Amino acid sequence: MDRREFLKHTALAATVLTASLSTQTARAAKRSNGKKVVVIGFDGMDPKLCEELMDNGSMPNFDKLRKSGGYSRLGTTTPPQSPVAWASFINGANPGSHGIFDFIHRDPKKQVAPYYSGAKTEGSKTTLLRRGTPFWDYLDEAGISSTFYDLPSNYPPSPSKHGNHKCLSGMGTPDLLGSYGTYQHFAEDGPFRPKDEGGGIRYILFFEDNMASGKLSGPTDSLLEKPAPAKAEFKVYLDTKAETAMIDIQDKKIFLKPGQWSDWQQVTFKVTTPIKFYKKKVTGICRFYLQEAAPNLRLYATPINIDPSKPASAVTEPASFIKDISKELGLFYTTGFQEDHKALSNGIFTDEEYVSQAQMVLDERIRLLDYAMNNYDDGLLYFYFSSTDMQAHMLWWDTDDKHPTRSAEDAKKYHGHLKDIYQKMDTVLGDILKRYNDKAAVMVLSDHGFANFKRQFNINTWLKENCYIQGSKAKNVLVDVDWSKTTAYALGINGLYINQKGREKYGIVNPGAQKEELINELIEKLEAVKDTDDSVVIRKVSRSDEIYSGSETAPAPDLIIGYAKGYRASWDTCLGQMKSKVLSDNDRAWSADHCADASEVPGVLFTNKPIAMAEPSLVDLAPTILQEFGMDIPETMDGKNIFKA
Ligand SMILES: [Zn+2]
Repeated sequence: MDRREFLKHTALAATVLTASLSTQTARAAKRSNGKKVVVIGFDGMDPKLCEELMDNGSMPNFDKLRKSGGYSRLGTTTPPQSPVAWASFINGANPGSHGIFDFIHRDPKKQVAPYYSGAKTEGSKTTLLRRGTPFWDYLDEAGISSTFYDLPSNYPPSPSKHGNHKCLSGMGTPDLLGSYGTYQHFAEDGPFRPKDEGGGIRYILFFEDNMASGKLSGPTDSLLEKPAPAKAEFKVYLDTKAETAMIDIQDKKIFLKPGQWSDWQQVTFKVTTPIKFYKKKVTGICRFYLQEAAPNLRLYATPINIDPSKPASAVTEPASFIKDISKELGLFYTTGFQEDHKALSNGIFTDEEYVSQAQMVLDERIRLLDYAMNNYDDGLLYFYFSSTDMQAHMLWWDTDDKHPTRSAEDAKKYHGHLKDIYQKMDTVLGDILKRYNDKAAVMVLSDHGFANFKRQFNINTWLKENCYIQGSKAKNVLVDVDWSKTTAYALGINGLYINQKGREKYGIVNPGAQKEELINELIEKLEAVKDTDDSVVIRKVSRSDEIYSGSETAPAPDLIIGYAKGYRASWDTCLGQMKSKVLSDNDRAWSADHCADASEVPGVLFTNKPIAMAEPSLVDLAPTILQEFGMDIPETMDGKNIFKA
């Protein structure tokens, strides 16, 4: 099971059926007095690539901003994972303030039960696990309006007490199935039984007289005796002469030629209610993409997204905000992860198909930005782009080393495509500056940069080989470790935990001297690990008790593994598997990453006035924004004003 599959299985399963309306008090008197602050988040925008493209004239608007205002590399969090980093941006403080330390945490009372760190679902209720006070609460209280589009680490959308805060939730928002995006693929050569391949399901289509029937899976019908996904039936008619397929679904007829995408389609699912014989209708949206008509018909359907015009659960604050957007923009992606990297990793998409789907996501985001700017008066506007992150994960390759899945030529071509994305972002920035450069404080930032992910380190296998994990046949930390002799284990992408007595259910290491000795030994040995070519694998191992402070440090791993550039935790590590070797090549299309040591992957910061601070970091943005509105920096924040030395 990998990260995304895990997320799908643990979180948010039942949220889709309950629309929760946040309570709103009367809108407090506005006190922003026309003051404007515009913040643009480009997830994963990398300083080296930016600097190269600014220097060679490919990003003139960024370059202009750098020269007329301020530019700096931006310190990120340890570890530099997006949910951790954006939560620190939100609180203006280190992860000890918000309690998110990795995509995956564990419950020590159950020894190592893993869970998604961002949100928790119990019954039909999903709760945000990010703790502390987001900086917009201070604005809300002061009567200053703020609107956030697609900010990560903010699902379910955080409520506004005074009605001055609006948001559309981003990364972490589920699809209608309660997963983080499950495509459905129908093909004549599909598997005989439906196959869930992590991020998507494959089905077979049987044609008779050029007609086949299929069923789209929707949300789980949880009140059935045996809960199962609700289904929406459709038929595919094939015109072999015209090389056209017609999809007939719920009285809509969609004609597609190979290589064509449909528009967004509303699809209705019926689910059981406590009232006998009454079925409730839940609407989602998807787009179809015909990959091939003949000889082997292949049809892709996007994940079933929550319908923005009829949301089955709240993805905005206030809940009605999404309908306002939809009235103007129609239907659009509402899931947190929109670029379908899983379809590429699982061989459903070719590189070109991934690129064109990711381009559709970007086009939608640009239309949303237009909406955002047209509906913005004053106060704070925050807008987020995922393209610089999701496309970099799949397309980045900046060396001559062999790419995991592409030829040298293709690796270069797609890295070139990434440069095109940066140039598009430059055009976007140009539009923003045209509107606001002389009217607003403009801040443009990324949460981290990027690096090749060439080699993977299986830390649990290393721990086993070095006798920290015991159990002669142990293959998985979650399953078959001998806890009576195991002293340390790893879970998530960067976390290492001591099997501590009194904390872990079967803990054996005494806090105090014994734990200290073990920690020091682990740091020394891990930082000394070398690859077969003598390269350093781990840049730095950090002690959480030295780098985190605040009221929410309890879930933190004991040690954070900061990988050297080119390395990352192995795919198996994230959920505790030990079947692979200690070090191996990364063999996935997901060929670049940022879950390294924070020093290896700083982000970027551009502003339209000079930055006075020497080494600004993500936690400094929230305090700076509050001061732009004339407010004091709350004591709970670690950051300072970047415009003051
Ligand atoms: Zn990120």
